[in-house]
Amino acid sequence: MTLQLRVYVPEHPLIKHWLAVARDVNTPSVLFKSAMTELGRWLTYEATRTWLPMMDTVVQTPLTECSVTFINPEIPVGVVPILRAGLVLLDGVQNILPIAATYHLGLVRDEETLDPSCYLNKLPDRFEPHTRIIILEPMLATGGSIMMAMKEIVSRGVQPDLIRIVSIIAAPPALRKLSEHYPGLEIYTAIIDEGLNSKGYIVPGLGDAGDRAFGT
Ligand code: URA
Repeated sequence: MTLQLRVYVPEHPLIKHWLAVARDVNTPSVLFKSAMTELGRWLTYEATRTWLPMMDTVVQTPLTECSVTFINPEIPVGVVPILRAGLVLLDGVQNILPIAATYHLGLVRDEETLDPSCYLNKLPDRFEPHTRIIILEPMLATGGSIMMAMKEIVSRGVQPDLIRIVSIIAAPPALRKLSEHYPGLEIYTAIIDEGLNSKGYIVPGLGDAGDRAFGT
């Protein structure tokens, strides 16, 4: 079987609504942040649908024994927000996955070359076998940052097919790079936009996600 990158754009009114709020240049920072939290929540809800490790067991209800299915607590689940902008998705994700560990990864891109460099890396030396990771990267633009994040995570033992990427807007250059290197990966995004401008910003996009969320 040939593996292929899968990009899911869930058809949900809440996702469309909060994306519209985030795109609008007149949305104030505080509301922009709420929109990102909501998008993080609903996209993660979709991304975890067939991905969380489950286990069947039996519990005693007040009346009788009953077969149930829990999330398997033995298999670690982690979230990697790519700083800065990934942080604004984190609240919504933690709402859904309160037990997931958070591993911060700080990447900044050079304004001229658009190449990323890493200024903070809180990933462990090695992840436990079967660990699931959700990467939070709101803007999949040139693909530089997400490729660096994937390399750091995969080199620490996480299987690419156990990784999900949650983004708000994805552009073709980043999707092409991911598809070339990580077939089998799944991405959950609110929309796929047309492309990038000469400064590497997604068009029509929503501008600089970090600046708009943090009011800088
Ligand atoms: N990062 C952003 O915040 N916005 C873009 O459009 C591209 C990268």
